[in-house]
Amino acid sequence: MTTQAQKAIPLPQVEARVPIPRQNLRVPGPTPVPQQVLDAQAAPLINHRGPEFSAIMKRVTPRLQYFFQTTSPVLTYPASGTGGQECALVNVFSPGDHVVAIIIGNFGTRLAKIATAFGLNVTKIEFAWGEAADPNVVESRLKEISDYRGVLITHNETSTGVTNDVKTLAEIVRRANPDALIVVDAVSSLSSLPLEMDPWDLDVVFTGSQKGWMIPPGIMMIAASERAWEAHKTSKLPRFYWDWSSTRKNLEASWQHPTTPPVSLFYALDEALEMMIAEGREEIFARHVKAGEYVRGRAQAMGLKLLSTDPRYASNTVTAIRTPAGIETKAILKKLREEDQIVLADGQDHMKGKMFRVGHLGYFTQTDLEQAMDAVETRLHELGYQA
Ligand SMILES: *Cc1c(COP(=O)(O)O)cnc(C)c1O
Repeated sequence: MTTQAQKAIPLPQVEARVPIPRQNLRVPGPTPVPQQVLDAQAAPLINHRGPEFSAIMKRVTPRLQYFFQTTSPVLTYPASGTGGQECALVNVFSPGDHVVAIIIGNFGTRLAKIATAFGLNVTKIEFAWGEAADPNVVESRLKEISDYRGVLITHNETSTGVTNDVKTLAEIVRRANPDALIVVDAVSSLSSLPLEMDPWDLDVVFTGSQKGWMIPPGIMMIAASERAWEAHKTSKLPRFYWDWSSTRKNLEASWQHPTTPPVSLFYALDEALEMMIAEGREEIFARHVKAGEYVRGRAQAMGLKLLSTDPRYASNTVTAIRTPAGIETKAILKKLREEDQIVLADGQDHMKGKMFRVGHLGYFTQTDLEQAMDAVETRLHELGYQA
């Protein structure tokens, strides 16, 4: 084979830049960021090895512990939520370890896929989309499964608008297997819905900045129990970037990170936590309860069907609504975006085109939700929907 000289790459012709529109962004992540936080984020850059950055970490870390409800250090990584899923697994398990994945939708499936990709032996306990993990079913299934090292649970399944009863599920796992590591994906719940890591005896909990934290995508937060730190010492899955030991060491030695953190996002997190503490944790939870009830109530009043089958488990951060017969999901989403500047999310996986999702987490007002649901009603009728 002859080697050919590479051709020079010509200057590309690209489309002109247009201003980013202001929208009522009602997808379950990324979520709107308050102006106050955007302003904080625009501050000049600083050295991530300097005292100014350490001062931020010193404020942010205990406040994250408060939201996680844990005395364990909360580690932060530049990553999306999926990074959290991978980080959780590679730090505590070894190739061939047996884990049980409780799956109620797309993100539970993703966590199980990552476990499989890393050579774990995965037994699935699966429920239909729209259902929560039934504690009785989980309890009886766990009796038939032996020698498992961990149980993977999604707290809030963003693809279906269902929140699992993690407290009860964790109690069941603990009774069945006191040493099992309980890994909880709390990406679209932590900060918005009650989740108590230490009181509920959870082992690994992680979340992502772009869901309920009122800041842009890019920071993943993760914490591990004493039990998980013990498992970490002997766990053999390969890791470098995700290694908890080096991240913890840097945090404890100097309130810094082993690699370059997204400095500006930490300005944002610092400011957002300030706002969250001012609002109050219980008040934030209450605001989300009210939002969930409102959006579900409006959908049902329009004659629409929710994907969530049991009101006890309906999510207060995201509502999944079945697209009514005769309406195209793409058409309603397009109309809302173009005519109302309201952005909703399509369904995922096999539910794409069959439902749409309304995010109500992080930073929103009642007016944002009212406008969104008013517009859904108007535009569905324009497309011929009759309840
Ligand atoms: C959003 C989300 C994730 C990860 O998504 P990224 O796009 O990687 O941030 C994982 N789990 C749940 C429950 C989520 O909502």
